[in-house]
Amino acid sequence: GSDGVPGRVRVAVRLRPRNAEECVADADFADCVELQPELKRLKLRKNNWEAETYEFDEVLTEFASQKRVYEVVAKPVVESVLDGYNGTVMAYGQTGTGKTFTLGRLGEEDTSARGIMVRSLEEILASVSPETDSVSVSYLQLYMETIQDLLDPANDNISIVEDPKTGDVSLPGATHIEIRDEQNFLELLRIGEAHRIAANTKLNTESSRSHALLMVHVKRSVLSAEDVIPSETYKSSHFAKLPKPLVRKSKLVLVDLAGSERVHKSGSEGHMLEEAKSINLSLSALGKCINALAENSAHVPVRDSKLTRLLKDSFGGTARTSLIVTIGPSPRHRGETSSTILFGQRAM
Ligand code: ADP
Ligand code: MG
Repeated sequence: GSDGVPGRVRVAVRLRPRNAEECVADADFADCVELQPELKRLKLRKNNWEAETYEFDEVLTEFASQKRVYEVVAKPVVESVLDGYNGTVMAYGQTGTGKTFTLGRLGEEDTSARGIMVRSLEEILASVSPETDSVSVSYLQLYMETIQDLLDPANDNISIVEDPKTGDVSLPGATHIEIRDEQNFLELLRIGEAHRIAANTKLNTESSRSHALLMVHVKRSVLSAEDVIPSETYKSSHFAKLPKPLVRKSKLVLVDLAGSERVHKSGSEGHMLEEAKSINLSLSALGKCINALAENSAHVPVRDSKLTRLLKDSFGGTARTSLIVTIGPSPRHRGETSSTILFGQRAM
């Protein structure tokens, strides 16, 4: 694990409560996991007597509030983005375990329900100065190695451009919308979500089969230390040397990943099979990259998928990355839960 060390991945696990169906169907069975949050441990039951124990940077129980989840998973990344570094927060897990709940809830009626996307923007907007700084967002969907603009769905084949000198990744074709206030941002998220549903209906797939990426670009004017003149000197000086503003750019990427469940290839054909292969490809490429970061390897294999190419400048180096793996309690999904836990463990 890491203590917010740049270049390493911080990994949290979040368990959602039993849903109504599980309360009935699993009534006679224990949950497949048991959490010890104060020890940052999770026990995955093998049978009635044995369990495997895993440690994470944070263990969030079904009682963890959205506020707490934001504070432990995203806040350190957001703060570092405000200081001028890139950062990523990703949610990984089986469909139905709470990735969108964790990242994307708008909490329009009840602000305590707000997820990481809205809370991150709130914090960024509260920290920048409207006269000199700017915050803009793009919202994209990545489906079968194709990038679609969720703010302009007709724009459905966006390409990734990499600056050969700096290595910075950009998407020149994507809509960037400047955000002035929170209402402004909530409206964009609503529009993006509506487009996501419409696009998936058209493609005849489910939104859980694509990755959604919210990119937040922060541009701040800062004064370089040597140019800051004490105000007395400045006033009395004949020759008023004005402080030279520097522009500092950084990027926060929030990723609601496609469901990690293994699609049974044997039962899939044609389009479904291609879709399954594509999801497996991008999630395994992501897994390889975060393993490489965890091992401090000099080579992070970002070229293997569009997802990792997009994230190239947002993890590793000086960037900060947080991964939240979401799991459900049902013993019927023990296999999927186990593979989600292992994905998180390999990132540490
Ligand atoms: P995913 O995006 O991983 O497919 P969702 O976020 O859509 O999963 O969550 C599936 C269902 O479980 C939703 O009805 C959601 O409201 C509920 N849920 C998820 N996480 C929690 C949680 N921590 N507390 C309460 N309900 C949750
Ligand atoms: Mg979802």
